[in-house]
Amino acid sequence: MAATIIDGKAIAAKVRGEVAAGVAELVANGTTPGLAVVLVGDDPASAVYVRNKGKAAVECGVRVFDHKLPDSTSEHDLLALVRRLGEDPAVDGILCQLPLPKAIVAKKVIAAIPASKDVDGLTVESAGLLLQGMPGFVSCTPKGCMRLLAETGVELKGARALVIGRSVLVGKPMAALLTNADATVTVAHSRTRELADEVRRADVVVAAIGRAEMIKGDWIREGAVVIDVGINRLDSGKLVGDVEYARAAERARAITPVPGGVGPMTIAMLLANTLDSARRRAGR
Ligand code: NAP
Repeated sequence: MAATIIDGKAIAAKVRGEVAAGVAELVANGTTPGLAVVLVGDDPASAVYVRNKGKAAVECGVRVFDHKLPDSTSEHDLLALVRRLGEDPAVDGILCQLPLPKAIVAKKVIAAIPASKDVDGLTVESAGLLLQGMPGFVSCTPKGCMRLLAETGVELKGARALVIGRSVLVGKPMAALLTNADATVTVAHSRTRELADEVRRADVVVAAIGRAEMIKGDWIREGAVVIDVGINRLDSGKLVGDVEYARAAERARAITPVPGGVGPMTIAMLLANTLDSARRRAGR
């Protein structure tokens, strides 16, 4: 069986189109969604991410407030900025690019973001709302994975789902989202025994590990759905996921490629969250 390739690029473009239409409607009614993007230091990868996020936001009609701060910025000054943005009525979302310089305690900075503007879904309050199945902002990558599953028509009710990885950013919110969608969820991590057996049982596998092709294609159950969050660069320069793609694609019903699967969804979901926040501000 040849798997359906889940086209994250196309689905992300669709989401961005929906966001652009929603933004246009809000603007016509007098509200322009605003996203504050805070970058501290000169980490080249972070600079690229921030540039791409800002560009995509502007293309959707979102106003971007760029705050590029030097590496030497103190925690005190960064906290003051985040608090100011929290009170600024023109700002609907605050994105503070991680990692922050070592001298700054990231948890303190994240805690300063009001949950109502936490479009990255990083605060303790957002995590709590998600666990309780209440409305709030959900971390963009797992939210993007859920949209990919929905667009692929995957029935989650009663499905056995395996999430490999338990990070605050990806694995844990992913497991909560799948649970809220009535899947029977197992979370695996570096201490999990017999991972291959866990994978063999799963109808839906979400891999968020960060280890090139660690999940062998032969482990994938025939007809399972595979969402590969991992992005790993090989010495050759090639990008691969956490799942051994070629063999897994022979067994799965549907699978995300790397690149072009989950990756493009993350920014699209950030924009969707920003639009949701602006809609709340506008009372719509
Ligand atoms: P992370 O914080 O490093 O978490 C990795 C998780 O994998 C941990 O929970 C770890 O377990 C688990 N793990 C490590 N080795 C394992 C093993 N041998 N067997 C089973 N589990 C193992 O990473 P992350 O932020 O969640 O990101 C994961 C991957 O997704 C990375 O490749 C990252 O680049 C990618 N990513 C992609 C996007 C996107 O937009 N596509 C967004 C975010 C992340 P322990 O908890 O026991 O240590």
